[in-house]
Amino acid sequence: MTTEKGIPSNSRVLMLFGQLEKLNRESMLVDPEIARQITAKVLHLIQTQEKTRKEIMSKGSSGMEVILATLENTQDLQTILNILYILNELLTVGGGRRIGVFVSKGGTGILLQLVIRASKESPPSEEFMLQLHSVLAKVGPKDRKFGVKARLNGALNVTVNLLKQNLQNHKLLLPCLLVLQVYSSNTVNAVSLGKNGVVELMFKIIGPYSKKNTSLLKVSLDTLGALLKSKTNAQRAVVHVPVLLYIYQDWHRNDTRHRHILIRKGILGCLKNITNIKLGRKAFIDADGMRILYNTSNECLPVRTLDPLINTSSLIMRKCFPKNRLPLSTIKSVFHHQLLCVPAGGPVAQLYNQPLGVDDVVDESDNYEDAEAENDTENEMEEKDRHAGNDDVETDINKLRPKETHSRPFEELKIYERFFMELSEDFQVFNFDNPKRGVTATPAAPKSHRPIIVPTTQALPPKNPTAAPLQGECPHPAPVPALDLDTINITKDQDGCGDHTHSRSHPGAGLEQELVQGLERVALDGAGPQAGGGGVNKHNRQPPILAGGVAARLGGEGEEMSAEDWAEEEESGEGAVLHVPDTALLLPLHDPDLYVEMVKSTRSVPQFSEVAYPDYLGHVAPTSREHILERVYGVQRTKIFQDIERLIHPNDILDKVVYDLDIQSCTVVDGGGSLKFNSQFESGNLRKAVQVRKFEYDLVLNSDINSNHYHQWFYFEVSGMRVGSPYRFNIINCEKSNSQFNYGMQVLMYSVQEAISGRPRWVRTGTDICYYKNHFSRSSIAAGGQKGKSYYTMTFSMTFNHKDDVCYFAYHYPYTYTTLKMHLQKLEALRTPQTYLRKDVLCETLGGNSCPLLTITAMPESTSNDQICQFRNRPLVFLSSRVHPGETNASWVMKGTLEFLMGSSPLAHSLREAYIFKIVPMLNPDGVVNGNHRCSLSGEDLNRQWQNPSPELHPTIYHTKSLLQYLAAIQRAPLVFCDYHGHSRKKNVFMYGCSLKETVWETNISATSCELHEDLGYRTLPKILSQMAPAFSMASCSFVVERSKEATARVVVWREIGVKRSYTMESTLCGCDQGKYKQPEYVLVGG
Ligand SMILES: [Zn+2]
Repeated sequence: MTTEKGIPSNSRVLMLFGQLEKLNRESMLVDPEIARQITAKVLHLIQTQEKTRKEIMSKGSSGMEVILATLENTQDLQTILNILYILNELLTVGGGRRIGVFVSKGGTGILLQLVIRASKESPPSEEFMLQLHSVLAKVGPKDRKFGVKARLNGALNVTVNLLKQNLQNHKLLLPCLLVLQVYSSNTVNAVSLGKNGVVELMFKIIGPYSKKNTSLLKVSLDTLGALLKSKTNAQRAVVHVPVLLYIYQDWHRNDTRHRHILIRKGILGCLKNITNIKLGRKAFIDADGMRILYNTSNECLPVRTLDPLINTSSLIMRKCFPKNRLPLSTIKSVFHHQLLCVPAGGPVAQLYNQPLGVDDVVDESDNYEDAEAENDTENEMEEKDRHAGNDDVETDINKLRPKETHSRPFEELKIYERFFMELSEDFQVFNFDNPKRGVTATPAAPKSHRPIIVPTTQALPPKNPTAAPLQGECPHPAPVPALDLDTINITKDQDGCGDHTHSRSHPGAGLEQELVQGLERVALDGAGPQAGGGGVNKHNRQPPILAGGVAARLGGEGEEMSAEDWAEEEESGEGAVLHVPDTALLLPLHDPDLYVEMVKSTRSVPQFSEVAYPDYLGHVAPTSREHILERVYGVQRTKIFQDIERLIHPNDILDKVVYDLDIQSCTVVDGGGSLKFNSQFESGNLRKAVQVRKFEYDLVLNSDINSNHYHQWFYFEVSGMRVGSPYRFNIINCEKSNSQFNYGMQVLMYSVQEAISGRPRWVRTGTDICYYKNHFSRSSIAAGGQKGKSYYTMTFSMTFNHKDDVCYFAYHYPYTYTTLKMHLQKLEALRTPQTYLRKDVLCETLGGNSCPLLTITAMPESTSNDQICQFRNRPLVFLSSRVHPGETNASWVMKGTLEFLMGSSPLAHSLREAYIFKIVPMLNPDGVVNGNHRCSLSGEDLNRQWQNPSPELHPTIYHTKSLLQYLAAIQRAPLVFCDYHGHSRKKNVFMYGCSLKETVWETNISATSCELHEDLGYRTLPKILSQMAPAFSMASCSFVVERSKEATARVVVWREIGVKRSYTMESTLCGCDQGKYKQPEYVLVGG
């Protein structure tokens, strides 16, 4: 026997082992009595001397081999028993290392063989089985292959039979159950054990509260829980759901000092697994499980240590919560835009070719069997997000190489020459003394004169405003302050009528000039007392449109206002006159008058006739830094419990529809203590509002036009609030599996009262914000063919500070198409004689809006040949933005870019002198106007159309690509192409670029199979940005070409136009977690 250094070779136990080793070699020839005596002596030593155990198990000792060899060789029951005692002593302490040694020497197999051997004796020796299972119970959890080994050795049924025959023998029961628990963790074993009646067996052992045999109960529950992961076993256990619920309640009631949380959790674990199957969920509901778990959980709430019970209960209740139908008749967008050409097989054809009567809100048969796997953490998707996308890398090397074929003849592209005047301009007729005459902007003719009013929920127009033609001598009525703030009249100065240029010509005078004058309560045409009462300004004839709106507010079409109503209205019109801050003075590029002027040519599918106050008044950025909301412990759980209460206390639920775009008048109820909603203005998105409880509303977002999903962007107006009451808002048809709303992002709110008080701005607000999977089912039509999917709820709470306020909520800082037009107009004022700025209309959109194209560079210093030559040969930088309407931050970044490029800084000067900037600031005006999140009017994501854009369906993409194709054809492809986006899940600002090498490295393509010569220039710009821009994160950049992105601007411009520096620039919708703009860390606690 070998010994390690430090162990005395004259040790008594080692001498005994030496003798044993000798016996093993001589095998059967020896009297079993000798081995019996030696093992008994070893046992005695082990039981009395700790050092003996250490000697046997010390490193380098062959003690374990000797023990196992003896165990294999001997037939003598007493010797085997002695060894089992020895093993039980040895393996009880020493942590996993000793067991590891045992397993590595093949101990498990030898023990399992003994199990089989012992089972052949009838009846098997109880003491033998007890000791054997005790050792197995110790070894099993540490041997990964234990379950498989046991099955292959045929040991499973031996243990099961032993259990069946010894149900009253608690001493034997415990080690057998412990072994069974390990067997059950193997899925194949679980099925086999289930067939042998083990599920039923466990139900014989578990029972109501008792202080006896708690460890037995705990092990049985854990074993049962493991077995129930198998669907067939879960089916066997469905009948026992009421029993489990009963037992759970019993323990809940009696375990008042919470000594047996693990048993209670074990019972819930069984319920959790049974309810993974449909029958289990049904049995749970039938047995009143929702109420039972809801009540017990509520009683557990005050005790923090019981959180695991509440969390598991919550998980079970969410799973079993009967699926609800979204309160809609169809998920198709409320608005439909008739396309001139509808490609068969395209999304629009699919959408509208659905046979009549097909319910697209829920699937006809709710037959899905398995509940989706769910974690009980609040951040279930984080890991998934992090690892997603690796299988999306482009592996087709041909798709990573430049596309050689230029499919379009130059003749066809030649028409785009007119957008590149600067490349041929000779400035011969240009007057350098009066440069502004030289370059002119293309005027955009106003399209229509539709009535425009500044909105309020109190004044909803009828659906088709063209039915209510504008009257009056003023060609563009100033916004009517229909905002009914009871004691306040907000009014707008009327003198800009007909001429908007003069009112801002003396900015200093604007302060004295009363922007707001006393315009009394608006008169209504035909629906009540005649106009003229209350001192109506004749100048400002009210469009009759408002009559319908008020009628709607009062509870229905055609319902006339009573005299009392009128008296009230009149009274409310006599309050103080408040002054709206002159945002034109506060914001260099903003002008409310100009906004209203501009909005007239904005074409929307719903034909909006209102302007939202925030867009009208503008947003003055706060000086303080935006912070990330610290998440309060257990918010999500509380919200989910409130949702479950809907089922527990159905009588408390109002279920009152208060706003519905699907019906003509939109507002469905009169005041009655309900909030009023409105979303009928540019970029607005809210389809329906249902009052659930007194201060709680379910909100449904509208699908993108000509589509049936993409719900994320929201922008709506709320009024009629009570001060000081916490309102809860739930957007119930969100689609993404996770959101920055789970990581500290807040919603944006704009208060008109705040604006009037001199703070016209969007602020991050809302408390108790979280985002979670809800109980509204999502049809397979809406979920891309997948069944059994749910929607997600984004919930936030809000306590309003002002009485009679009108507030707006938005997903992100809104930036309308009209805002862009206004900004572009105001941008002209920044032009100096040295600036070259040209505005062209690239094309018309499907909705009839113009897509602007800007050219910014520096004027040549003179008409000398050299100067003209330098001017024409400046490299081009091509920028675009806002292809995705919901990514409003892309527009704000673009606004900053334009202001900077037009600015007077030395850097801007040198940039203009060095480059020609070609800018398409809004690639998807229609989507922006109509409150879409992702698509254009063709119901498609325009950033997936770059490979083959259709001039009929995707005009802005078709013509932008044509510009680039033209440039490539004349050998003037831009140096840089960058498309601005917003990112909803990541923080910071970063870029996606294209690199052949970096893509190949991500794949298994052998690097030698293609020659990898690549200019590293694509990394320069992001590198510079990461050094200069504090919000920029190089670590988040990626230069891999993904298959799913092959039709995006970035990849097509890189591959087809040959622009090496082709980027998507993503800006976070939430904030930064690095650099100068890093927001304070918040503590995220599960709950
Ligand atoms: Zn985007």
